[in-house]
Amino acid sequence: MSEPQDAAARRAVPPVICYPNDTLPQPDMALYAAARAGAVKAGEVRIDPRDAAAFRVEAGQFFRISSIEGPQVGDLNLWNAGDLTERFYSGKTRALHGTHLARGERMWSSLPSLRPMATITADTLGWYGIDRFGGSVHDVIGTRCDPYTGNLLAGGQYHHCCHSNLTRALADETGLPLHEAESHVHDVLNVFMCTGFTRDTGQYFMKASPVRPGDYLEFFAEIDLLGALSACPGGDCSAQHSSDAASCHPLLVEVFAPAPGALEGWHSPALNGYDRSHGREI
Ligand SMILES: [Zn+2]
Repeated sequence: MSEPQDAAARRAVPPVICYPNDTLPQPDMALYAAARAGAVKAGEVRIDPRDAAAFRVEAGQFFRISSIEGPQVGDLNLWNAGDLTERFYSGKTRALHGTHLARGERMWSSLPSLRPMATITADTLGWYGIDRFGGSVHDVIGTRCDPYTGNLLAGGQYHHCCHSNLTRALADETGLPLHEAESHVHDVLNVFMCTGFTRDTGQYFMKASPVRPGDYLEFFAEIDLLGALSACPGGDCSAQHSSDAASCHPLLVEVFAPAPGALEGWHSPALNGYDRSHGREI
């Protein structure tokens, strides 16, 4: 295909950040750190390999996801505990913060709520940065492994993809029928997973996670949360997923409750301020 004469000039136009985020409401990290210092453990849930489990975290509590026995990535879903229609919005979180999340960044909820659900308060893989392949950890670019894509690409019926694991976990926790629970499962935060896009073909890639037992990612719950975490059948995602081929390990979710009064001055974020009239009289 022939190029226009000014092709080079058009390509040389510098990029502009879509959503400059310097006007985003900022979390009070010092207040969170002080509250976390005096917090006590309130519960824990172990996630078996190639399976998922649900957990609940009250607004103002912390939750920590840990690697405990070997390198393992986790697929995280979050819902408003009182309204499953408000759920984590991976795409807008990516637009606001970039492809991978780090300490101080938030998991934002779906429209029309669009508010912080959780804030990352600690990350022992914060040292990783962006590697020479363009890879980094904790992405919001992947979706979740699922049996439909597996069937599309390779045929077969595999039942332990993160999508199915999360579906079973939500159904068990809420009592919803399986197919109803499935409709609430959404694009995830890929905890500990190391991913990026190839520069030459723009394809989504994964590589062995740098996570090791003892590493963790910790969050502050901005609203009452119902969470579900799947220990991906890809294990450390060094080779493949959507099968039983990879070496898999459990994950641990722990919840910590701050001392009474430790969050003085903090309020759970309000629903988004847009009036929802969409230009029509209401
Ligand atoms: Zn998975």
